Amino acid sequence: MIQCLECGAWLDRIAGMHLKYCCGKTTAEYEKDHPGAPTEDEEVTTTRAENTSLANQGREFSEEHKEALRKAREGLTLSDEHRENIGKSMEGR
Ligand SMILES: [Zn+2]
Repeated sequence: MIQCLECGAWLDRIAGMHLKYCCGKTTAEYEKDHPGAPTEDEEVTTTRAENTSLANQGREFSEEHKEALRKAREGLTLSDEHRENIGKSMEGR
């Protein structure tokens, strides 16, 4: 999940359709206004962002934003229910 830096919504990807109704921008305009900000799932864009925006432009990639992403990711660790299911499938062997 990534966060739209225009409206703060958490999305799988920041699509043109979302930007159109949230701030009226295109993805290109969004990327220009938020250098290094991901517009797709963060794992897909992290490498690209580091290689291009961060390294080349030296622009600040909001620490606050990175922290938010990190926290969101921690929240995605296995739920108890999920772990229980895994345990059960192991027992079945
Ligand atoms: Zn938005």
